[in-house]
Amino acid sequence: MKDSIKNIVILGAGESGTGAAILAQKQGYDTFLSDLNTITDEYKIDLNKYNISFEEGLHTEERILAADLIIKSPGIPHKAPMVKKAIEKNIPIISEIEFGSWFTNATLIGITGTNGKTTTTLLTYHILRNGGLNVGMAGNIGKSFAKSVAEDSYDYYVLELSSFQLDDLIYYKNHIAVLTNITPDHLDRYDYKVENYIKSKFKITHAQGASDYFIFCADDETTMQYLAAHKPASRLLPFSVKNETFPGAYSIENNNIIIGLTNKNEIEINMKDSSLRGTHNRYNTMAAGVVARILDVRKEVIRESLKSFQNAEHRLEHIARINDVDYVNDSKATNVNSVWYALESFQNRQIIWIAGGVDKGNDYDQLKPLVRERVRALICLGKDNDKLHQEFGGDVKTIVDAHSMKEAITQAAEIAQAGDVVLLSPACASFDLFQNFEDRGRQFKQQVLSL
Ligand code: ADP
Repeated sequence: MKDSIKNIVILGAGESGTGAAILAQKQGYDTFLSDLNTITDEYKIDLNKYNISFEEGLHTEERILAADLIIKSPGIPHKAPMVKKAIEKNIPIISEIEFGSWFTNATLIGITGTNGKTTTTLLTYHILRNGGLNVGMAGNIGKSFAKSVAEDSYDYYVLELSSFQLDDLIYYKNHIAVLTNITPDHLDRYDYKVENYIKSKFKITHAQGASDYFIFCADDETTMQYLAAHKPASRLLPFSVKNETFPGAYSIENNNIIIGLTNKNEIEINMKDSSLRGTHNRYNTMAAGVVARILDVRKEVIRESLKSFQNAEHRLEHIARINDVDYVNDSKATNVNSVWYALESFQNRQIIWIAGGVDKGNDYDQLKPLVRERVRALICLGKDNDKLHQEFGGDVKTIVDAHSMKEAITQAAEIAQAGDVVLLSPACASFDLFQNFEDRGRQFKQQVLSL
């Protein structure tokens, strides 16, 4: 396909679109980028640096519909008018991920799922790099894949892929695909149909064949149900904390993980030696460990890498211990499932739970048993806290409202007793009081450190 194309138009100038434009330009295509909104300075600098023509604040239809190929940014829905017109005109539309894959021979490792993508991607990358592989990390994390293909030269890529990035694939194929789990999220982009969301996550196995691998969570009901009816051609490697799934990985005793592809090369890992905590991180560690074993990384390297790994900010990040109270920032927990794992990870502790923000239609029922057992007080940090009061009024004795992070932390410090954990794990988006989840997490840190 790539040889018959001359004109490429890229829609959207975020990380993805700009990366695709850079790659297209470098490959000698007649390249044009169009964004309906204003383009941020950071990306304009990039576009100018590579002499790429672009427009912002409008879509010039004649120019766009003259393209031989359109690369659509993942943020633009298929129902956007310009995209619809291109579809009507039968112009092929692909994703930046697809386009990037046309110009690299690197082995691709793609990671998706509702929760755990970033942690698993970072951990996999850390282990493979320590194992001496010439490996890059891209996708939804850091540089876009296309930009990295344009500028770097790697033999392996670990790619964090959101479900939107898995749209519009043709030839792209993961040699190793990882699906961490599936719980309903972002349903607004899938016509509120959970089947569509599941299907899009399973695109991680797109075009896989018998010599490829699919790593997934055997404890995840949604994954297992879909898999029963739609088996990919790749080799299946499950992981579980409930059953001895082998080949693959399992962890049926609390701290022990067994990873193995064949009986002869099993590896045992003690999670006590890892910097990661909680059942969810046992899952993430198993997924990353299986990838590493497929690529023959030595056992000792895997063990050492787990010790030295540092997770990204805002994911169950321990900030400080003050007056015997631990303060933990889990601002990235923007859905109920991730909060469940956060509460679950503090066994035998009482928790002052800071939650709230913009609720995306949360069903809190699954949290209630853990909340009753472990939450000493709930601090509601949002503009509208009614739902949290209604949901947890019968389960938590002390529920208070806070309208700023400062107020939340002052209240938490007053209520907490020695041995407690103050946990920011909001289950909600942050846009009512904060710029984004990073801003919320940083304000948490700042307030805790000034106690
Ligand atoms: P993602 O990139 O998919 O959003 P992150 O690794 O950034 O995933 O984690 C997001 C949130 O989900 C954090 O609160 C984290 O503690 C929690 N989490 C991480 N891994 C898992 C998992 N396997 N299952 C459920 N929750 C998880």
